[in-house]
Amino acid sequence: TWKIDDEDRHVRSLCPYCGVGCQVDYTVRGGRIIAADGAAGPANLYRLCVKGRFGFDYAHHPDRLTRPLVRREGVAKDPGQIPPPGEERRAAFREASWDEALEIAARGLAAIRDRDGGAALAGFGSAKGSNEEAYLFQKLIRAGFVTNNVDHCTRLCHASSVAALMEGLGSAAVTAPFMAAKDADVIIVIGSRPAQNHPVAATFIKNAVKRGAKLVVMDPRRQALSRHAEYMVQFASGMDVVLLNAMIYTIIAEGLTDNAYIARHVEGFEELKSKIAAFVPEKVAAQCGVEAAVIRAVARLYATAKRAIIYWGMGVSQHVHGTDNVRALIALSLICGHIGREGCGLHPLRGQNNVQGASDVGLIPMVYPDYKAVSDPAVRDMYQRYWGVPLSDSPGLTVVEIINAARAGTIKGMYIMGENPAMSDPDAAHARQGLAALEHLVVQDIFLTETAWLADVILPASSFFEKEGTFTNTNRQVQMAHPVVPMPGDARQDLWIVQQIARRIGLDWGEMDAAAVFDEMHGVMASIKGMSWARLQREGAVTYPCAREDAPGQDILFGDGFPTKTGKGRLAPTDFCAPDELPDDDYPFILTTGRMLEHWHTGAISRHAGILHDLEPVAVVSLNPATLRRLEAQPGDTLRVGTRRGVVDIQARADRDVPDGMVFIPFCFYEAAANLLTNPKLDPSGKIPEFKVCAAKVEKA
Ligand code: SF4
Repeated sequence: TWKIDDEDRHVRSLCPYCGVGCQVDYTVRGGRIIAADGAAGPANLYRLCVKGRFGFDYAHHPDRLTRPLVRREGVAKDPGQIPPPGEERRAAFREASWDEALEIAARGLAAIRDRDGGAALAGFGSAKGSNEEAYLFQKLIRAGFVTNNVDHCTRLCHASSVAALMEGLGSAAVTAPFMAAKDADVIIVIGSRPAQNHPVAATFIKNAVKRGAKLVVMDPRRQALSRHAEYMVQFASGMDVVLLNAMIYTIIAEGLTDNAYIARHVEGFEELKSKIAAFVPEKVAAQCGVEAAVIRAVARLYATAKRAIIYWGMGVSQHVHGTDNVRALIALSLICGHIGREGCGLHPLRGQNNVQGASDVGLIPMVYPDYKAVSDPAVRDMYQRYWGVPLSDSPGLTVVEIINAARAGTIKGMYIMGENPAMSDPDAAHARQGLAALEHLVVQDIFLTETAWLADVILPASSFFEKEGTFTNTNRQVQMAHPVVPMPGDARQDLWIVQQIARRIGLDWGEMDAAAVFDEMHGVMASIKGMSWARLQREGAVTYPCAREDAPGQDILFGDGFPTKTGKGRLAPTDFCAPDELPDDDYPFILTTGRMLEHWHTGAISRHAGILHDLEPVAVVSLNPATLRRLEAQPGDTLRVGTRRGVVDIQARADRDVPDGMVFIPFCFYEAAANLLTNPKLDPSGKIPEFKVCAAKVEKA
């Protein structure tokens, strides 16, 4: 128990977890955060979820890295045996001074560049860092390594959404904020579990339902929002395109399209119409696992609404047909004219607290900041002048491609800032072998993660609570984070570390703080033209696009057309493409993976947060009680879950939301890493792996 003391400090900043971007008032006593309260941020209006309210104490955890570490001579990298966090993991390394560690880190990277060329190097930045850190990191890889092999976890979450939105609308960001639910008559949530993964956004959806909006939840699993829904459409895994095309068929066949909107703002309608002819609801109902009458009813509900909005998440994007799934959602929205108005739109709910911003500032292999193609000679020319160095003209490799190249020996060195691919990449045993095969791996992080275990040099970085910088949430709101507590020990700011590496590989940037980096971004990013550092400090949050310093940002986009070549939204008809791996006699279950309310992604930070860890301390697999009965198992029993890639032993949990025949494992538990099991097959456009469906077998261990 604690009481506010007069000596306590109160600092306004943000929540370090999800893309909702809640503003938080932190109470600090004696250099430690002791409480977090929801502030009046535009995205949360004083609300917080369990992670924001209780998940802050990882910043003070004794496992924090406080000194640079260098691999001990003669200690081999063992990708097969990663000890639990703590002393045993740390024993593979010795402490070093910053000078020594930076010198080894930079020398190893520069040697590979000079010997084998920039294409032999790669970098993973982080969506947990600020826009300024992400910008500087991609600049380092492009200008210093001379390669575009730079990516981050967007590749594992919404890369397929970005690909489809860029193609269809000419812009990858949300068309309306999640609060637009308040003005909607119909809300579709598909392939997303906002009550777990974006809990404060879910409260706005629940408020809208209370006001009278009709909610449709579409997902192979039921969820906390299901009981608020008019329709819970529990469809067969991987059948998204079939289901959505059947809805589009119904809308077109029953004459429910907005023809005036289509004539003014849409191209490709005739092609869509002919392609969609095969998706008659009565013919595809069995394939979808949804009655034709329900498909038709949901289609009519959406099409005839005055205002309707669609939210989606990884359940849509993490498939080999993830881009097609999003193309179908865009088509639904465009043919009904449900875009560009209040209460309407398309909103891919972003995962990490800065995955939107990290993508915007160019932490992607194929584009510079503001999504300008690296393959466009005029754009490259401009950046060569702006940064004063020659740049590579080849689009870089993506996350999984980089790991594959490391395994194959063509990528030889990597710099990883704040990401944990040893836990987050599909087929993690393969990913770990790839990381271990690197000649030189530099990891910059706040804990000795599973990825850091395979490093040559580990650089102790700043946690969210020690940073100043801007973060962009799922609503396109750029918000200012302020340092809440000092850094522990000899840990350093990520911005400082990146600049030290840059200097040691031959770049001279002087010394830039976050404000100076923001100014540099401002010089090339039209999207933030109306924002200055001073304005962000003053207002705390500004939405982009924002043309002028004295104008508000634009919440709702595309009321008067799209930023495509023709100014029209482009329909891209989709065909059914089955998941890469479906159940068979040897592997009769469907495995799906994702997040849970109390933990965050690979668990690197949330499992170091005391209350979150106490709430969910043990790795669990969730199964329907009927599945458990068939396995003659009880909740709490240890089950062995295997796929063609690996096996984990994990505790069973009964969960009626999971359909019979499916198992769900969150990917945050190192002791039963879900990604040892997942399929690395990629969506051809978004290059995102199929985390949501693979074939598995389950037995009592
Ligand atoms: Fe943090 Fe997201 Fe929860 Fe808000 S909803 S408190 S941003 S985890």
